[in-house]
Amino acid sequence: MADTLVRGQSLDGTIKIFVADTTELAGRAQEIHKSLPVATAALGRTLTIAAIMGQNLKNDADSVTIQFRGDGPIGSIVAVSDSKSQVRGYAVNPLVDIPLNKKGKLDVGGAVGKGQLCVIYDMGMKEPYSGRVPIVTGEIAEDMTYYFAKSDQVPTAIGLGVLVDTDCTVKTAGGYMIQLMPDATEETAEKIEKIVRNAPPVTEMLEKGMTAEEILFSLTDGFDMIVNNETVTPLYKCKCSQNRMRNAVISIGKEELARIIEEDGKCEVECQFCNSKYTFNKEELLKMYELAR
Ligand SMILES: [Zn+2]
Repeated sequence: MADTLVRGQSLDGTIKIFVADTTELAGRAQEIHKSLPVATAALGRTLTIAAIMGQNLKNDADSVTIQFRGDGPIGSIVAVSDSKSQVRGYAVNPLVDIPLNKKGKLDVGGAVGKGQLCVIYDMGMKEPYSGRVPIVTGEIAEDMTYYFAKSDQVPTAIGLGVLVDTDCTVKTAGGYMIQLMPDATEETAEKIEKIVRNAPPVTEMLEKGMTAEEILFSLTDGFDMIVNNETVTPLYKCKCSQNRMRNAVISIGKEELARIIEEDGKCEVECQFCNSKYTFNKEELLKMYELAR
């Protein structure tokens, strides 16, 4: 079954909820990056929350970028989503392999380490808006929850999960985000908190065969919910092109370009998000040199 992302809100408008089944998307990311389980989990969780946050973007050209800049062995993790929840991402070291944590789970927090979490909104025209907070646990969901509390001052509950199979492929992946609007009552907050605390992990619900919509209703049990009937299909999709890569190469500057032309006579670059290769020959490089600063 294809991935789905559903959105809903309570009848009184005080609760907003997003639930995503991102099994195929996280599986595609694993395939592209040939990542080992801990990186598959870390990147899959980050891509899932990016896909969810993409739903809050207004225009086609808008994007949201999530960067975990930790000091752990995985290196930085980057995930980007557009308003259609088409995402792309990478972890600097997808082959990181560390022991399970004390709970016997993939040690995502240990792989990410300490550092900063940056969220960048690019709305096309204006200067990109960015917010940053320290990484709390490196487990991704806790960090994103902290980000929303600190940076956006919105009480948020986030659950993210990737279940990796014994052959390193993704068995299930998904996540949810519940946000309380400023006029939500204390009672509503307590009820939601209790449901979330007692809810099984999202991967467990998906494994049982629950759909994203069923998960949405179980996480808001007791509230009158309206589900947006326009279903979104989150997708792993890279936006790289010869043109984008040319601009990236030009941005390295005249000096570096001159060195490449002199020493190599050509330049091959690989897209970090999808591993596509782009080659520029000497003639092209000379033209690019003219455009560089
Ligand atoms: Zn690409």
